[in-house]
Amino acid sequence: MARYRDAKCRLCRREGQKLFLKGARCFTDKCAIERRNYPPGQHGLNRGKLTAYGVQLREKQKAKRIYGVLESQFRKYFQWAEAEKGVTGENLLRLLELRLDNVVHRLGFAASRREGRQMVAHGHFQVNGRKVSIPSLLVKVGDAVQLRSTSKMQARIDDNVNAGRGQVPQWLELDSNEKKGVVRSLPLRDDIQIPVAEQLIVELYSK
Ligand code: SF4
Repeated sequence: MARYRDAKCRLCRREGQKLFLKGARCFTDKCAIERRNYPPGQHGLNRGKLTAYGVQLREKQKAKRIYGVLESQFRKYFQWAEAEKGVTGENLLRLLELRLDNVVHRLGFAASRREGRQMVAHGHFQVNGRKVSIPSLLVKVGDAVQLRSTSKMQARIDDNVNAGRGQVPQWLELDSNEKKGVVRSLPLRDDIQIPVAEQLIVELYSK
């Protein structure tokens, strides 16, 4: 599956805020937002005021970048969110939040979603006892996500869990000894603490 391979910090600089794409580095003064908080590129410092369309576009780009999803896949999530009952924007964020790479990150096993994606893609996790290597897999209530016993990631995951940068959200339950997490419920909007105004994304795609 395609993914963005260029410098991650450029994405934060473009959005003008920390998107926490790199794990531990994001919490140090090496963070590019701490050093150069202006958009990248030759004209980065000379960008004008955003139009209403520009504001909506930036919210959509921010959500895509936080979850590491490219445009075509993001649009599919939006279509699924629209087809579901309830508020489309919240449905969209919930779908993104239920991605397996995000769940691995939210459980504290990975320092970033990017690391979570790599761990899943390299086959270090199992879901309900079966090996899974698809980072975009959407977990369901009751699913158990666990590090495989044969994985060589034990020490790294211990380090990440002990670093404990984010609290495990209420909709997940962590057993750090077993390196296992269970999806207790679907995440509510308050559980998804990302700096995105999802309504603007809905407005953008509804044009
Ligand atoms: Fe973003 Fe992290 Fe890079 Fe800072 S260090 S700019 S938060 S990816």
